[in-house]
Amino acid sequence: MTTQFSITEVTNKMTPIKQFPFTPILGWSASRYDTFKTCRRRYYYTYYAKFDPEHSAEKINRLKQMTSIPLEIGNIVHDIIKVLLERLQKTEQQIDAARFYDYARKITGQYCQKTFSEIYYKEIDRLDIDDIYENIRLSLSNLMNSQRFMWVVRNAITNKDQWVIEPPGFGQTVINGLKAYCKVDFLFPVDDVLYIMDWKTGKIDNHKHHKQMLGYTAWAAFHFDRDPEKIQPIIAYLKPDYSEDTLHISRPDIDGFENTVSTETNEMYEFCYDIAENIPKGKDQFEKTAIAVFCDYCNFRELCR
Ligand code: SF4
Repeated sequence: MTTQFSITEVTNKMTPIKQFPFTPILGWSASRYDTFKTCRRRYYYTYYAKFDPEHSAEKINRLKQMTSIPLEIGNIVHDIIKVLLERLQKTEQQIDAARFYDYARKITGQYCQKTFSEIYYKEIDRLDIDDIYENIRLSLSNLMNSQRFMWVVRNAITNKDQWVIEPPGFGQTVINGLKAYCKVDFLFPVDDVLYIMDWKTGKIDNHKHHKQMLGYTAWAAFHFDRDPEKIQPIIAYLKPDYSEDTLHISRPDIDGFENTVSTETNEMYEFCYDIAENIPKGKDQFEKTAIAVFCDYCNFRELCR
């Protein structure tokens, strides 16, 4: 018997994750700080659209929400792996490969209805959905044929009720007393170790990805009251071939990361007129980058011409 795949069919049976009351103060995340460092103006458009005196928030948000081919490949792969893992939680019956890839093809077609920046900015005339799907099929097939996937099916399945698969919300946590966001793809216990897996469909970027994994480790240590040294983050690169980067994180690594989060949060606070309410300083304080290559892939480029 096979199981029908559907994005909405399963809900997570996860261990309770700590909840926080809403506060407007900004929260650190690796992507927020990355945007801040890349271009202050892009950071302004991404996080403070409603304060813009020149362009409507609606226009800025429409540009912000545009996707791109590499981004959407990652997005689709993540969503399908989520469904795959949730199915595994329900049944260990063999996956019907033909049906699974039909489902992946259908989802690819649906997601490709979005607005892509490559089309919007006339870099290409039309999407090559077959090519996008081929990247997705390759990523999924590499994962499902990997030793790791078989290991998960063999070893992690006994604690499947404790799996955390892309938890809802933004992954809020507290680092050094500061609000932060770190959202894991897949967390599961085997023996006394908590494993965190992060799926990547793009290129290896050790500096960026290791920092993300430190964040996920800090998130898991906080929410599950675990010793960070008993948390094992694994970056899974899904294409062109399956490969892994397994990190060994020590307490001093986490201490260093917490200090980094404090420093970077304070840098971003500097651009707030009111820190507690997260109200930005004037737009003129958020300068456009001088590094032209950052503009080449920026969703907001029509606002900066
Ligand atoms: S187009 Fe360039 S200057 Fe303008 S927001 Fe984007 S990265 Fe910054």
